[in-house]
Amino acid sequence: MTQPRQQVAISVVGSINMDIVNEVREHPRPGETIHGLSTSYYPGGKGANQAVAAARAGAGTAMVGAVGDDVFSGELIASLDRSGVDTASVARKAGTSGLAFITVDGSGENSIILSEGANGQLTPDDAREFSSRARIALLQNEIPWEVNAYVLREAQKGAVKVIYNPAPARPIPTEAYPCIHTLILNETEAEEIAETKVGDDPNGAEAAADVLLGRGIQAVIVTLGSGGCYYKDASGIAERREAYRVKAVDTTAAGDTFIGAYACALTEGLSVRERLSFASAAAALAVTAHGAQVSIPDRVAIEAFMN
Ligand code: ATP
Repeated sequence: MTQPRQQVAISVVGSINMDIVNEVREHPRPGETIHGLSTSYYPGGKGANQAVAAARAGAGTAMVGAVGDDVFSGELIASLDRSGVDTASVARKAGTSGLAFITVDGSGENSIILSEGANGQLTPDDAREFSSRARIALLQNEIPWEVNAYVLREAQKGAVKVIYNPAPARPIPTEAYPCIHTLILNETEAEEIAETKVGDDPNGAEAAADVLLGRGIQAVIVTLGSGGCYYKDASGIAERREAYRVKAVDTTAAGDTFIGAYACALTEGLSVRERLSFASAAAALAVTAHGAQVSIPDRVAIEAFMN
């Protein structure tokens, strides 16, 4: 018989990617071969980033996902392990791990090829232990929808709160809305899913939140980049939170860091205002450094920054 997995506060069911970043002077034209300037490997993927953010913020966190049997799988798991994420529920699939081939030119313009690899092979069966492990589950949109649908259904049965980050944006089936405890989404995703104009206007964020609350979600947070975030829940609590002022060098994983830190604060029973402050501080620190997982701060750094 397999051993029961260790109990944790948060299960993240989602993607694990290696970001392979090539710097070039100019993007190659079709058929052209050029010399690159440098190549870097950054462990990423929205699921793994959020797991790292939650664990570094101080929550016991398990990753439920998949890597391939390629050369990247070991480093992807090691990166999660180094941040204290429990990787016992990460499955190994035949083939490649999730890969993001990112080319950045001298003006900072990106082109990205996403190869979903093992993330696309994740099944509901791979996720079956999530609800026995934690009382909060985090979901995004980089794994097959049938896995998300399974987690949403099972979470309701087991009274697990689901925090769902619908990124990249896609429509949410009507029946899924009541299974979502907290929806955290950026301005673009809010516009697409709520079908309203948000801009960087808190009134636009409130209008989007009202639409989404009307579909049966308990709480909505619209993140607005350097414009901060807007929170509203079904009990009528509404909060606008400014972003911390920092010198931003790379906003990669700002949203993922916000979400992981917010989930951690939720497990600790903090007030809405305290949760938003903690998450905003973690995300502000993440934008002051380059890369995805490497830029995510730990608890000591977050608390030092807030004091
Ligand atoms: P990304 O896709 O880049 O990870 P996102 O689009 O999902 O991010 P954003 O709304 O850009 O999410 O940012 C999430 C949170 O990060 C914001 O609510 C804010 O608290 C913080 N943040 C983002 N950009 C900045 C910034 N320039 N300065 C300070 N805080 C920031």
